[in-house]
Amino acid sequence: MGAIENVAAIAADADESLAGRRLRLPGGVLDAGGGVHRHVRVRELTGADEEALFERASAGNAERVSAFLARAIEAVEGIDTSIDARFTSELQLGDRDYLLLRLRQIDLGDAVHQVMRCPACAQRVDVDLLISELPVRRLERPQADYTVSLAGHTVRLRLPTGADQVAIEDLAMVNPAAANTRLFARLVLDLDAQGVADEQAVREWPLALRAQLAAWLDANSPGPDLFLDLSCPHCNADMSYAFDLPAFFLPSV
Ligand SMILES: [Zn+2]
Repeated sequence: MGAIENVAAIAADADESLAGRRLRLPGGVLDAGGGVHRHVRVRELTGADEEALFERASAGNAERVSAFLARAIEAVEGIDTSIDARFTSELQLGDRDYLLLRLRQIDLGDAVHQVMRCPACAQRVDVDLLISELPVRRLERPQADYTVSLAGHTVRLRLPTGADQVAIEDLAMVNPAAANTRLFARLVLDLDAQGVADEQAVREWPLALRAQLAAWLDANSPGPDLFLDLSCPHCNADMSYAFDLPAFFLPSV
């Protein structure tokens, strides 16, 4: 099993060229006919692109990432459409994360250095990692939607996009559970053949169903794993965290 996965991983990377600025999305873009388009060409970034990513005067994080990616992506091979912020907002979250990571890797280098503060002993902890070593989950056969059995229910759902993140990011700051309610109402296309559910209906779903939905999304979404297992070298306290990707894009200071 492990050996087969390794071969698949090598094959997946073989037609990706960082030097040639041709990237292979871990999810992909589906066209109307169900065809999957995975290869993206990106151009060299400039200071103007960086400024677009950090323009705090307008919009939230997710919208800034959409605007940034619309500037960075030259083309999606096999798709004849203009790449604007609307297009990039419809990319899957994991594909957006992947593009941010690889662009960072290509233009600013593979090595990342971050300085954290241990929440337990307050000591300074240096975190060093290589972007190329972050695990990436690639979808063999991405689909427009998936039908799964969760907590005794039959659920048809799709994977989240940048537009979903835009819809929930303010709410997620104040109430993560309410943000999940809104997210599930957007992603679940059908529950037990009763059609879409509005937020009020999703709020009344059993906790077990909501928990299994969150777990399914976590286990099946494509993209880089941004969760870093880390313990404090001074006191051994758990310091695991997930990257804030836009911040991660900054040159190390
Ligand atoms: Zn510590």
